[in-house]
Amino acid sequence: MHGAVLYGAHDVRFEERPAPAIVEPTDAIISLPATCVCGSDLWPYRGIQAVSTAVPMGHEYCGIVEEVGRGVTSLKRGQFVIGSFFASDNTCPHCRYGYQTSCQHATPVIGAQAPRLRVPLADGTLVATRDVPDTDRIASLLALSDVMGTGWFAAEAANVKPGGTVVVVGDGAVGLLGVLSAKQMGAERIIAMSRHEARQTLAREFGATDIVTERGDEGVERVKQLTGGVGADSVLECVGTQESMMQAIKSTRPGGSVGYVGVPHGVALEGQPLFFSHVHLHGGPAPVRRYLPQLIDLVFAGTINPGKVFDLMLPLDQVAEGYRAMDERRAIKTLLRP
Ligand SMILES: [Zn+2]
Repeated sequence: MHGAVLYGAHDVRFEERPAPAIVEPTDAIISLPATCVCGSDLWPYRGIQAVSTAVPMGHEYCGIVEEVGRGVTSLKRGQFVIGSFFASDNTCPHCRYGYQTSCQHATPVIGAQAPRLRVPLADGTLVATRDVPDTDRIASLLALSDVMGTGWFAAEAANVKPGGTVVVVGDGAVGLLGVLSAKQMGAERIIAMSRHEARQTLAREFGATDIVTERGDEGVERVKQLTGGVGADSVLECVGTQESMMQAIKSTRPGGSVGYVGVPHGVALEGQPLFFSHVHLHGGPAPVRRYLPQLIDLVFAGTINPGKVFDLMLPLDQVAEGYRAMDERRAIKTLLRP
């Protein structure tokens, strides 16, 4: 089997890898009709997060169950399943509180940029759809594995309410799906921060009412102008830099909430400004597993179409180009077909 392997900065190769096999009795092996490149894959790709050895890449997946270990009870061959980028038992206290990415047995799922994938803790991790979906739904179901669930968590963590005013910092796939999530949750005004035309168009399609192109303190100033000097009820931080985090906090009204899902790189918060901001902060790796049943229903009903964030489709053997296009911001998100 061939799959994507990262060797160092800007060096992704499509090469022979061992085919996944059942290791633990709780594992499942699934075959993937589609997989994709994540914005978070770009951190190690850009060398910002060093990789020590050759690393199999990819953590977003959906597909057909090919094989299950003898300890798997709820899944069988031939079912179509979706899981999160972290495997979880879905039974421990953290899982039962809905924080499956903090599962006491959480295990990262890696190596999904390949035709087949081993998923640990299959019973807890994978959610089966009622039917095997049509091909045209695959992209939207794949998006649930990470980006859509992460956008949804950002909106929920930011306490988006019907009639509320929302700011979304970050115009990557997660930010755009944060816009879609806020719209679904009934936000009245959604201000998307973006200076990229194609992304602005998609943000508007997903429900953004205003676009702000300024960044940093200028961006904050613009949000204040748009909200009568008050700031937003809810701000979704979907980048993970010092500038984006501070922009999020300063755009929030006193008593409002920031939902932060951008993996922080070099972010340090000073106590005093935070203290006087009166802002709620909640975030982290999205517990995508919690939302899968609900989001699967929304996709099957045609209510949401998060697969629209994929604006580049490539055969899996061109995975290196998929990374380059996202790195150079020529693509929002790359879908790969094994
Ligand atoms: Zn757990």
